[in-house]
Amino acid sequence: MAVPQNRTTKSRRNMRRAHDALVAANPNDCPNCGELKRPHHVCSSCGHYDSREVVSLAREVDVDEDAA
Ligand SMILES: [Zn+2]
Repeated sequence: MAVPQNRTTKSRRNMRRAHDALVAANPNDCPNCGELKRPHHVCSSCGHYDSREVVSLAREVDVDEDAA
């Protein structure tokens, strides 16, 4: 098994991890409904992209509970 020849110092380890921080998302306002949405993605609340509806959302789903 390969074993490191030299111990990684705290300084080296921390310098390596200096680039590991997570970056917060940068949401935009949806021009149709105003909800926050991911850039270049279909709005998850109204299904619009580029001012037109590309995904129709199921607004009312009839569930017949007696059918089972
Ligand atoms: Zn929207």
